[in-house]
Amino acid sequence: MNLDVLAAAILVLALAWLLWFVWGVVRGDATDGRWRAVRILAAAAVALVVVGSATYRLMDSLTVQLLGEHAARVETPRKLVALTFDDGPNDLYVSQLIADLKRFRARGTFYVIGAAAAEHPYALASLVASGQEIGNHSYSHRRLVFVTTGRARDEVSSTDAVIRASGFSGPITFRPPYGKRLLSLPWVLLTEGRTTVTWDVKPDPPSTADPATMTRYVLDNVRPGSIVVLHPWSPANGATREALPMILAELRQRGYRCVTVSELLAAAAG
Ligand SMILES: [Zn+2]
Repeated sequence: MNLDVLAAAILVLALAWLLWFVWGVVRGDATDGRWRAVRILAAAAVALVVVGSATYRLMDSLTVQLLGEHAARVETPRKLVALTFDDGPNDLYVSQLIADLKRFRARGTFYVIGAAAAEHPYALASLVASGQEIGNHSYSHRRLVFVTTGRARDEVSSTDAVIRASGFSGPITFRPPYGKRLLSLPWVLLTEGRTTVTWDVKPDPPSTADPATMTRYVLDNVRPGSIVVLHPWSPANGATREALPMILAELRQRGYRCVTVSELLAAAAG
């Protein structure tokens, strides 16, 4: 069932009816058929705009989710931070990323795309073997809004299958492609008892185009319990890969420990 479309349609109809009703009370019932049509159309248009913009804001919200467990960061007094790596994996950069993390005794959480992980089993297995946490970032990386619950469930479960086949046995949290979700996806994750993870620090190009600026952005915005998102897998994102050791060094210097998302979630709970 497409919960996103269903909920939006119900909201539009309810709000349009409410506006039509209020207009009737304020202005009196128009007997003229033309004015009645104008009243209905105006109510429907306003309802569409209001529900449409609210829906748009909601699906992009990093901090609000209608259903299920969700974290953009956690509350903790300890200087813990989770570095998360979205998309991928691929064989080109996996060794470099693992080496950088190891050098600083840091662990990361890699939100992999199911299709890419299936295509690059070596990269995925290397991440698992080096003790990184693996997260689910959907199979196709399409926006999972205005989709059926069946489609959302397929995206989650087929990616889980690829991750489990790599030997990863830890908890698998979910990060929606582009951070977008409404009702269908959160409903599926709720029924599976899964946690949705977004972020509170995102130093992505082009707003922060060079490694030094990216590093400064992270250090200016990070706080205990932060979840940082990085996109290191594209050949075009060399700045992100160059920034990683700088970010790791600066975080260590400031007394931060880089832990996995599930370690961070557990620290908040305890
Ligand atoms: Zn992504």
